Amino acid sequence: MGAGPAGSAAAIQAAQSGLLTVLVEGSAFPRCRPGETLHPGIGSVLKQLGVATEVNTASELRHSEIKIDWAGNRSRTRFDDPSDLSQLGYQISRSKLDTILLNRAQRAGVDVRQPCRALAPILSEGRICGVETTLGPIRAAFTIDASGGVGWLRKKQSLALYRVPRGCSQGTGIVKADARTSLRGHY
Ligand SMILES: Cc1cc2nc3c(=O)[nH]c(=O)nc-3n(C[C@H](O)[C@H](O)[C@H](O)COP(=O)(O)OP(=O)(O)OC[C@H]3O[C@@H](n4cnc5c(N)ncnc54)[C@H](O)[C@@H]3O)c2cc1C
Repeated sequence: MGAGPAGSAAAIQAAQSGLLTVLVEGSAFPRCRPGETLHPGIGSVLKQLGVATEVNTASELRHSEIKIDWAGNRSRTRFDDPSDLSQLGYQISRSKLDTILLNRAQRAGVDVRQPCRALAPILSEGRICGVETTLGPIRAAFTIDASGGVGWLRKKQSLALYRVPRGCSQGTGIVKADARTSLRGHY
């Protein structure tokens, strides 16, 4: 449920593991979403998902360090070896990343339903056994809520949310493509 990076990655992994998988996304793609700077550590995950080459090609800039401002504590981390591409962070627009992951999910055999909104969980004896959607019900042994900050299932089930205190989540990335080009981003 949700075809952001989490939902598409989960769907690809499920399909690669041989599960019959349906991915439900409320928005039509391409769409504008925040978030474009990725840590180099994601490289091994991209490889596992089968999209490493595509993301490498689509990543406009690769950055060599990050600065973190966390509740007043500041740190600056240079990645291990800036001359090694696999040690650099990625800068890629979310619309491109989302599309690469969704296309990969489709190639892996995922049944993508889009635009299609999840309306309510289907419950049986206290267990979630599927989702009612705008395109009809989907029965499933497992349901993954990847609706991001929307917290769709949490809201539907009135589950408690633990909030990280405000002011603890500011990060700044310094992005260096080469000696002549640099870009500073923050979120
Ligand atoms: C301003 C800003 C800047 C950011 N910058 C960065 C950054 O540089 N680098 C970084 O790593 N992270 C960044 N982030 C965080 C990043 O955006 C999130 O971590 C990431 O989007 C989470 O991915 P996700 O797949 O969990 O959720 P999302 O990307 O939010 O995807 C959830 C999906 O679920 C779908 N959905 C929701 N409800 C329903 C429903 N009822 N039915 C069907 N579909 C539904 C939505 O349409 C969406 O496609 C930033 C966030 C913000 C707000």
